[in-house]
Amino acid sequence: MPVETKTTCPYCGVGCGVIATVANTGTVTVKGDPEHPANLGRLCSKGSALAETIDLDGRLLYPEIGGKRADWDTALDLVAAKFSQTIAEHGPDSVAFYVSGQLLTEDYYLANKLMKGFIGSANIDTNSRLCMASSVAGHRRAFGSDTVPGTYEDLELADLVILTGSNLAWCHPVLYQRLAAAKTARPDMKIVVIDPRRTMTCDIADLHLAIRPDGDVALFLGLLAHLAKSPALNPDYVTAHTQGFGAAVSAAAMLSMPALTERTGLTPEELQRFFHLFETTEKTVTCYSQGVNQSSSGTDKVNAIINCHLATGRIGRPGMGPFSLTGQPNAMGGREVGGLANMLAAHMAIENPEDRDRVQRFWASPTIATKPGQKAVDMFKAVADGRIKALWIMATNPVVSMPDADAVRAAIEACPFVVVSDILRETDTTLHAHVLLPSLGWGEKDGTVTNSERRVSRQRSFLASPGEAKADWWQVAEIARRMGFDGFAYTTPVQIFAEHAALSAFENDGSRDFDIGAYADMDATAYGELKPFQWPQPTGRVRQETRFFADGGFYHADNKARFIAVEAPVETDRRDARYPLTLNTGRIRDHWHTMTRTGKSARLSAHIAEPFAEFHPRDAMDIGLRPADLVKLESPHGTVITRVLVSERQARGDVFVPMHWNDQFAATARIDTLVSPLTDPVSGQPAAKNVAIAARRFEAE
Ligand code: SF4
Repeated sequence: MPVETKTTCPYCGVGCGVIATVANTGTVTVKGDPEHPANLGRLCSKGSALAETIDLDGRLLYPEIGGKRADWDTALDLVAAKFSQTIAEHGPDSVAFYVSGQLLTEDYYLANKLMKGFIGSANIDTNSRLCMASSVAGHRRAFGSDTVPGTYEDLELADLVILTGSNLAWCHPVLYQRLAAAKTARPDMKIVVIDPRRTMTCDIADLHLAIRPDGDVALFLGLLAHLAKSPALNPDYVTAHTQGFGAAVSAAAMLSMPALTERTGLTPEELQRFFHLFETTEKTVTCYSQGVNQSSSGTDKVNAIINCHLATGRIGRPGMGPFSLTGQPNAMGGREVGGLANMLAAHMAIENPEDRDRVQRFWASPTIATKPGQKAVDMFKAVADGRIKALWIMATNPVVSMPDADAVRAAIEACPFVVVSDILRETDTTLHAHVLLPSLGWGEKDGTVTNSERRVSRQRSFLASPGEAKADWWQVAEIARRMGFDGFAYTTPVQIFAEHAALSAFENDGSRDFDIGAYADMDATAYGELKPFQWPQPTGRVRQETRFFADGGFYHADNKARFIAVEAPVETDRRDARYPLTLNTGRIRDHWHTMTRTGKSARLSAHIAEPFAEFHPRDAMDIGLRPADLVKLESPHGTVITRVLVSERQARGDVFVPMHWNDQFAATARIDTLVSPLTDPVSGQPAAKNVAIAARRFEAE
């Protein structure tokens, strides 16, 4: 009999439920889970092709040391010994873990526990730093906690949905399908897309604002100044539930209309139309994603958006609120377990001595990190200059995905000891590892992930473990044990999940929003049957889904939210005579990250077969580029050669290049080699969407 397993898609942050069926022949088919609240049976092209990406071609099946097969004991002993020796000689901050939003929550929790509670450093950061760190920082400033108030249903209930820095159609396709269906059912619903490019998402938009790169802070400051003088202002809400309104409005009011048009690149008519729509529509949701987060002013952008919702009291009620959309399948799970270098487990703060003490007592750990560790970009700089001497990379490919990717590759090459846990033997990153540890892939591993709307779902195994591959949590536990640490005697992921839930509830007086204590007594049977649920689910309460901020209470000590008096960056144009174009990187519909999985599917690769650089027709003409020419792109950091695409979708002066291709698929196409390591000063998130480059036609030499 065919066997059906309910699991969760491993790609984007929508977190769709999937039913995988293994036939008697071993053939796997997938379909959307009609009972999963995120997708209600839908799947996008990537999710539908999951069965095509699970073959064993290129899999890393055995541990390797120096490129040669090794047994697990030898590899684990070596890793534990090298990390212990490095720590003994150079201190805990001389080692680091670089992890991933692809990890399951159980993997993430354990890696975080080992580094922060036992090694005693906070040098664990994640590729989610590249994804949503600015939203985390913005939430903490405004709400006093990293709390996402939105739900997917809010998009369907809203009368106005604003999508800023979000190509929802390609990056969160099932959520786009839900929104498009809602608009079809209620044609009066309005959709505004704010994006320098005319993306596929604009197909359902009533208004597309082709904003200048990084013009978002100015746009939402202009909106706040407008709202402050309009009937949409909710003075009762502002007085009762917020602090800092006056200073925020004063900062916003400094921008004149000419300054606004100059900084946003929008006409006064476009601005007034947008302001009017927001002003007159009570049920408004503002979704934002990488176009907001991946910016040197990313955190300010997030707060400029939240300010407008606080001013109108449009938060904490159905069909309204700011809503950060996470990129990765478990970016949210990583936030819950403190997987960022500046966070502690269960949404506790690393800078708070009481939180540190609480976590240390719960873990019964010998130490606890006392200060934030290196954030992703700084972590690889610390590897490059020798401060970090042993690095463990799990489930990610930084040689392709990090900004200034050639410098990151050089840093990893020069690092005295590099361990990579991965499912593939040859990625651009595994090539530089001293030790390779084979991990389980989707369909083989077992655990939980959390999607953008805080919904925890199971990823379940339905395939045998290939070769000697092992779960990432098992690898962490084994290394910890061999480093001499107690507290890692796990044999199943449910033990880790239950501990994680118990920590979330440990001495929680209600001041911490991530509490799933109701699941702390989880056993294997309950874990096996676990249905998707949204946090929080505190101990002792009848299980129910909670709308955050419904009562106007926030997580700052006085229970009030904070307006943040942000100022629009004076100059966001990084171009000059030598580098006269602006590079904007992003995703395409049918590939995921560095293509290590989606690149295996002929169907997915057929959508867009090769990397490209998209130019406005006038720019192409000025540079002497014709469609399908090869073009050489250059920045101070690197060079890329790729195919020319000419389209009216592209704004003049801007060039869009997808982020996915790597040297395994197309030599010289790692677009992040061009991206500068510039980061947002608050969140540390790299600015991947506003990079000055030059372009010229490439002739083979
Ligand atoms: Fe997977 Fe995202 Fe597509 Fe859903 S929308 S099937 S989670 S890639």
